[in-house]
Amino acid sequence: MTALRPRFWETIPPEKMTRDEWEALCDGCGKCCLNKLEDEETGVVVLTRVACRLLDDDSCRCSQYPIRHQFVPECIVLKPGNIDDNLYWMPETCAYKLLWTGKRLFDWHPLISGDADSVHRAGVSVQGMTVPEFEIDEDDWEEYIIEEPT
Ligand code: SF4
Ligand code: SF4
Repeated sequence: MTALRPRFWETIPPEKMTRDEWEALCDGCGKCCLNKLEDEETGVVVLTRVACRLLDDDSCRCSQYPIRHQFVPECIVLKPGNIDDNLYWMPETCAYKLLWTGKRLFDWHPLISGDADSVHRAGVSVQGMTVPEFEIDEDDWEEYIIEEPT
């Protein structure tokens, strides 16, 4: 891992960040790893607490991140080049969405707090609230709709 430049998220445009800086933007909330439901007519997207089979409910991190596409080929690799296409479903507090839309990171972001657990203490993550997708029939996901923890 290369060194992260001091407060790079405030000064370096996303396209100029190193891969490590880009990855470090993720706050570990786990919300993008929840299954979502999209209304076909309105396009409205809602979150469920039914999580991707690889999400660790305690750490809120992907349990197989480097090799996740072997198991979940559809997992999206966020890049500056595809954020615009994905903004509609991304969580409101997602660091990538915040910076992309000109907003600041919250004080609970681990890059600012210096503590990976601050996202959980702030009540913004999905820690302890998910159910694995292999336990719930897809037809029943509507029963698991939640508001985004913010
Ligand atoms: S929603 Fe954004 S900040 Fe949260 S885990 Fe996903 S990519 Fe990381
Ligand atoms: S494969 Fe990993 S990163 Fe992708 S949605 Fe599942 S848990 Fe999240």
